[in-house]
Amino acid sequence: MDLGLRGKLALVTASSRGIGRACAEALAREGARVIISSRDEGALRRAAREISAATGSEVLWKAADLTSRADVESLADFVGEAGGADVFVFNTGGPRPARFFETSEEDWYHAFELLLMSAVRLTRRLAPTMIERGWGRIVYVTSVAIRQPIPDIALSNVVRISLAGLVKTLALELAPHNVLVNGVMPGITLTDRVRQLAEARAQREEITVEEAIRRMTSGVPVGRAASPEEVAWVVAFLASERASYVTGAMIPVDGGRILSVF
Ligand code: NAD
Repeated sequence: MDLGLRGKLALVTASSRGIGRACAEALAREGARVIISSRDEGALRRAAREISAATGSEVLWKAADLTSRADVESLADFVGEAGGADVFVFNTGGPRPARFFETSEEDWYHAFELLLMSAVRLTRRLAPTMIERGWGRIVYVTSVAIRQPIPDIALSNVVRISLAGLVKTLALELAPHNVLVNGVMPGITLTDRVRQLAEARAQREEITVEEAIRRMTSGVPVGRAASPEEVAWVVAFLASERASYVTGAMIPVDGGRILSVF
């Protein structure tokens, strides 16, 4: 299936590694020009080179800390200078893992800036070009923690829910302009970060890393973690011409872990 993304310009945030990077690569494979972004220039330069070599598409990069308003503004300026985004995939780093009583007031403000305000600020700057063109796709990468809170990540459980509200609100406001807005909720996805968590658990419980991953995914009906690419394929579809009648949806990519109908 041709996703109809050839020549479109896509911004993917938090994309030097993990799920964000896989999303950038999936879009580039479909012929989109891609802008990747994260805090680390060296990692971005490397990732841009590798994605471009693997896909043959143009990959631009711009360093930005999503918690910095100034960085977010200059990222939006960069996107404008590159031609304005047709596709915006919002991904972030995760907030500090902690139980509720281990969090400080600063942690809450930081999570709010990282998970919500960066999405709000970038959407405000990028959506007007999509409205003008009468075509746009926005996909917010969140977490299954929206549907089923995960122990020990209180900040994520609470603040990410606001993104589901953002998806629904924007879907209503932007649908008349053919700008479609959806969210993806990954379950356990085998990125470097999750591999590190598995390694820590393996040490703690004196088991192999494979066994630690097996225990982490024991409640997942398909019996394994996702690869970052498996999340990225869903994101790329939602970002595409082929998803032209999908808006306001929150799609779990979790191997069947969340059984709730709503
Ligand atoms: P990761 O740690 O592998 O990658 C995170 C990316 O975000 C990196 O490119 C990093 O440089 C960038 N980043 C971090 N903080 C940033 C900041 N302040 N400004 C700009 N860039 C920043 O993470 P991942 O496993 O790919 O997860 C991506 C997102 O999806 C996270 O928010 C995570 O909580 C969420 N998520 C992950 C899983 C999973 O199992 N991996 C499951 C559900 C949700």
